Amino acid sequence: MPELDPNLLAAFDEVVRRNPGEREFHQAVREVLESLGPVVAKHSEYTDAEVIRRLCEPERQIIFRVPWTDDTGRVQLNRGFRVEFNSALGPYKGGLRFHPSVYLGIVKFLGFEQIFKNSLTGLPIGGGKGGSDFDPKGRSDAEVMRFCQSFMTELYRHIGENTDVPAGDIGVGGREIGYLFGQYKRITNRYESGTLTGKGLTWGGSQVRTEATGYGAVFFVDEMLKTSGDSFEGKRVVVSGSGNVAIYAIEKVHQLGGRVVACSDSDGYIVDEAGIDLDLLKEIKNGHRGRVSEYADRRGASAHHVAGGSVWDVPCDIALPCATQNELDAAAATALIGNGCRIVAEGANMPTTPDAIRLLRDASVAFAPGKAANAGGVATSALEMQQNASRDSWSFEHTEQRLSEIMSSIHDRCLSTADEYGAPGNYVVGANIAGFTQVADAMLSLGLI
Ligand code: GLU
Repeated sequence: MPELDPNLLAAFDEVVRRNPGEREFHQAVREVLESLGPVVAKHSEYTDAEVIRRLCEPERQIIFRVPWTDDTGRVQLNRGFRVEFNSALGPYKGGLRFHPSVYLGIVKFLGFEQIFKNSLTGLPIGGGKGGSDFDPKGRSDAEVMRFCQSFMTELYRHIGENTDVPAGDIGVGGREIGYLFGQYKRITNRYESGTLTGKGLTWGGSQVRTEATGYGAVFFVDEMLKTSGDSFEGKRVVVSGSGNVAIYAIEKVHQLGGRVVACSDSDGYIVDEAGIDLDLLKEIKNGHRGRVSEYADRRGASAHHVAGGSVWDVPCDIALPCATQNELDAAAATALIGNGCRIVAEGANMPTTPDAIRLLRDASVAFAPGKAANAGGVATSALEMQQNASRDSWSFEHTEQRLSEIMSSIHDRCLSTADEYGAPGNYVVGANIAGFTQVADAMLSLGLI
């Protein structure tokens, strides 16, 4: 692991001590602190005012019981979380994740990342995250509804359009946001649209929000390609995952002239040399929440399914990890480098391990961290909040244009900040420093908060 400046090392040690066992949170903090050496060397005001130590401590952490009954009438119990990490730039903003792996350390890592990601969008949103260890897989709609209603029965008192604005993440899509919003509206007797984002188009949602994370990641890569006069035309792309982010990343790659030849789920991956047929994939995933193996069964000769294994073994020019944290490890990075991959951009949150990032950097593979490359989702959530606040709704074209401008401005800010701090072309350093300085300056202006 690279050395840390003594002040930063002290802050990191404190995080480990105060948050024992929260491995993913430690990893996310370490990754940001490793970029901040030149910033604290230049600006003693940040360390004098203990901004970094304060940033690593959430403003508020809420943990609650979520009881509900399953379809057989049995009582089930889950744990709910909301970590309200930082509100220097605006109301806490960030998704809810429903997945059995969720515990406080995952919510904190996601909330911490969200502070910098949201800052990079340039929009007035603070950072937060929440979720539950509830597993929606195999549950009926009625069970998911009862779970969401119970979850919101506690969460409602902590959120609001000027306080904290949740949205989706893994396991939370349009269906769940609907049940959550319905219960919020019922308890509070307020049609407060701006309290949740990712809503349906007929009840306060924004055009392009569904597509935004995947589209945004591809817009970001398009900007990376443009820096060397290149484009997606003719590029071979591998995407991991097959959920919302992956599906719309594939769609945009195809619109820009590239070809996505593989994607995956937790059981394995599919390779389709003719390019993934998105209509078929959407029908399987969105239609009946099926598995990618079904794609290979139905697609015919161009496609095959590999049970288990790593999707990163499939040769490509561009790799887009869009599944989950730490899915692209050193072995995967080695395989990608060996196959001539030139760009890795994170559609998911922290999908690349620190070892893998180092290997990619040493091999001069351009690497875009999630807090920059996947910021399109939350940026479009902020656009949804704008539309809700003005009781307006924008066209698809206008909203997509705004998204594309935001991604291009994040890209340029990463590069110019990396240049300014002596790390030209390093998107990790650029994203961390640009995200950090905006929040840190706001924290200094607001007094001891
Ligand atoms: N969960 C998404 C993310 O990781 C979106 C959050 C939001 O829209 O608030 O950024």
